[in-house]
Amino acid sequence: MVQRNTWQRDRVRTALGDAAGFVSAQDLHAALRTDNTGIGLATVYRALATLAASGEADQLQSPEGEAIYRACSSAGHHHHLICRSCGRAVEIQASDVEEWAQRTAAQHGFTQAEHVVDIFGVCADCAANAPAAPAPDERG
Ligand SMILES: [Zn+2]
Ligand SMILES: [Zn+2]
Ligand SMILES: [Zn+2]
Repeated sequence: MVQRNTWQRDRVRTALGDAAGFVSAQDLHAALRTDNTGIGLATVYRALATLAASGEADQLQSPEGEAIYRACSSAGHHHHLICRSCGRAVEIQASDVEEWAQRTAAQHGFTQAEHVVDIFGVCADCAANAPAAPAPDERG
């Protein structure tokens, strides 16, 4: 137990990079378990927190309130469009949002404002593959 076990974090980072989109710690733990690495769920959580803190991974909240992660391909501030069906993510710039956030913060006397804006929806592929979507409300 003296060993610092950075190989575990490397394995978590690699598994995260292999994932198609945003995944939870449980998802990654399950993926790692098939490799017989013996990495525990608590270790996965810790490794993900470290990767998120160092900017190597994005951390978001799923609509269900679960923390989800993704190896991030963009450095610096950006936003995401996330498919809630398959987890695929698109990185987006949103200059409108940046201006609005700055202006709104300033109006209230706030400085050093930060924001997190991510859009959850259903991607075009998932929408095309879905069984007939429920019709829009046509009562009348
Ligand atoms: Zn990102
Ligand atoms: Zn999708
Ligand atoms: Zn922004």
